Amino acid sequence: MAKWGIVWKQFFYYLLIILLTIPPLTFFVSREIKRHYISIIEINLKHQAALTEEFVEGLLPYEKTREIDELAKRIGKQTDTRITVIAPNGKILGDSKEDPTKMENHLGRPEVEQAMRVGIGKSIRYSTTLKEEMLYIALPVKEDGRTIGVIRTSLPLGQIRALVWGVNSKIIYFAFILTIFAFILSLISIKAATKPIKEMALAAKKIAKGNFNVRISTKAKDEIGELSSALNQMAQEIKRLFTALGMEKEELQKTLSTMVEGVVVLDSQKRVVLANKSFKNMCGLPWESIIGKAYWEILRNIEFKELVDKVFKTNRPETSEIQHQNKVYLGNGTPFSKTKEKRIVIVLHNITKIKQLEKVKADFVANVSHELRTPLTAIKGFVETLEEEASEKEQRFLKIIRKHTDRLINLISDLLLLSKLEDREKRIEIEEVDLKKLIFNVSKIFEEKIKEKNLKLELIAPQNLPLVKVDSFLMEQLFINLIDNAVKYTKEGKIKIEIIPINHRVKIKVCDTGIGIPKEHLSRIFERFYVVDKTRSRELGGTGLGLSIVKHIVLLHNGEISVDSQVGKGTTFTILLPV
Ligand code: ADP
Repeated sequence: MAKWGIVWKQFFYYLLIILLTIPPLTFFVSREIKRHYISIIEINLKHQAALTEEFVEGLLPYEKTREIDELAKRIGKQTDTRITVIAPNGKILGDSKEDPTKMENHLGRPEVEQAMRVGIGKSIRYSTTLKEEMLYIALPVKEDGRTIGVIRTSLPLGQIRALVWGVNSKIIYFAFILTIFAFILSLISIKAATKPIKEMALAAKKIAKGNFNVRISTKAKDEIGELSSALNQMAQEIKRLFTALGMEKEELQKTLSTMVEGVVVLDSQKRVVLANKSFKNMCGLPWESIIGKAYWEILRNIEFKELVDKVFKTNRPETSEIQHQNKVYLGNGTPFSKTKEKRIVIVLHNITKIKQLEKVKADFVANVSHELRTPLTAIKGFVETLEEEASEKEQRFLKIIRKHTDRLINLISDLLLLSKLEDREKRIEIEEVDLKKLIFNVSKIFEEKIKEKNLKLELIAPQNLPLVKVDSFLMEQLFINLIDNAVKYTKEGKIKIEIIPINHRVKIKVCDTGIGIPKEHLSRIFERFYVVDKTRSRELGGTGLGLSIVKHIVLLHNGEISVDSQVGKGTTFTILLPV
C-alpha cells in the first residue's frame, strides 16, 4: 500500500515534467512549421505572380478581360494556385477560381493596397469568396513607372493546418508513450530505491528482537548507503554494549551468589525483585525462584517484617537483629529509588557465632559476679565485726577496706543486674503497679542521705494516676539509680520527681539542681562504664553502670528516655512509659 503511494508520487512528478514540456514544445514546433511553410508558400506565390505578370503584361493596358481571365484560369489550374488579376481601380480582370464579373472591387484588400503602395503585398486572412483562410501575395505590374494592374496569387492555409496537426498528433502520441514509459520508470526506480530501505527495515526489526549480528550489504554511495552503514555501526555498538552489560550482570550475579550474606531487594509492593543464594538458603528455598513473590510468602518472621516496615516508613537506613531458625542475623535495610519507585535492599549478616560468644562472655561475667558476691559479703561482715573492737588506727584501715568492699559489691550487683537485663531469653514480669507508691518507697532508701546533704525531695503526681503495667523490681532498680545519681551529684537545692499521664503513656521527670552534665558527654552517659569524671564517680561510690541499667529497663518496657542538662544548674531525666 505504502509502496504504491511512493510509485504514484514519483509518477506524478514525471507526469508534471511531461505536461510542462510537451504543450510548449507542441506550440513552438507547430509555430515554426507554420512559419517555415508560409515562407516557402510565400516564395512560390511570388514566383507564380511574377510568372503570371510576364503573361498578362501585354494584355493589361487594354483591359482585355476575357483573355486575362482565361489566362488566369489556365495558369491557376496548372500551378494549382488561385490567381487574380486586378485593375488599378480595383476591378477584377481575371480570376482562376471565380467569375470576375461577380466579384466585388478588390481595391480595399490589404495585400492589393500594400502592393500598390510599397511594391509587394502580403496578407493572411479569411477569404469571403472561397470561405477559408488564405495566404495572399500581390505584385504590382508597372509600365513606365505607372501601375497598370496587380497580380495576386493565393493558396489556402488548410494544408498547413493539416500538416501541423499531423506533427502535433505525433508529438501527443510520443507524449503518451512517454507517460507509459514514465510510469514503468517510476515502478522500476521505486523498486530500486525501496529495496535497500526494505532491507534496512528488516534489519532494524531483527536488531529490535535482539539479533545484533545482522548487517546490511548495500553498496550505494548515497544517503541510503550512509544510513545503512550507520545502522550497521549501531548494531555493532549495541552488540558491544550488550556483551559488556551481560558480562557486568554476570559478574554482579556471581558476586551476589558467592556472598555469605543474604541479600534481597524488595519493590514498593514488598515483592522480591532480586535475591541471592544465601537469602534463599535462609528461607529454606535454595532451588526455587522467588522473584516476584511477596516476601512474607517466603520468610515468615516478625523481626524481618518489622525491619522492612521500618525502612519503608522512615525512608532511612535501619538496622535490627533478626532471629530465624536458631540463627541470629544482623539485618541492614537501605532504601533507594528506581525510576520513581521506592525499593529497599536488605543485607542479612549471620551473627549467630558472635552472639554465642557474647552469651559465653555474659554468662562468664554473671558467673564470676555471682561467685564473688558471697565471699565479698562475708568480707564485709567480718570487717564490720572487726570495726567494733578495733583501735582508732586500725579503724581507719578497716574503713578503707569496707569502702572498697562496698564498691565491689555495688559493681557486682550492677553487673549481675545488667547481664540479667541483656539476657534475651529472660522475660520481664509485668504487673499493675502504682508508680507513685513505688517511687515513694524507693525515696525512703535515700531519706538519710538527703537529710545529711540538706536537700529536699519533692514527688508530684495527680490523684487519679492510672496503674502502669511494669516489672516492679526493675522499676525500683530504675528509680534507685536515678534518685541515687540525683542525690550524689547535687550539693544543694532539691530533687523533684513528677509523674504526668499523657494519653496512653506516663511521663516521669526526675529533676535535680546539681552539677549538671557538659553537653559533649550527654550522648554517651547511657553507655556501660561511661563516667564524666572518673575520680568523682569513684569517690561517690559510682560504677558507671547505673544509667546503662536505667536505659535497658526503659527499653524492655518499650519506653523512651532522654536527658536534658545544664552545667551548674541541674539535670532532668525524662522517661515515657506506655500504660
Ligand atoms: P555512676 O555510677 O558513675 O553514677 P551512671 O551510669 O549512673 O554512673 O552515670 C554516668 C555518669 O553520668 C556519671 O558518672 C555522671 O557523671 C553523670 N550523671 C548521671 N546522673 C547525673 C546527675 N543527676 N547529675 C549530674 N551528672 C550525672
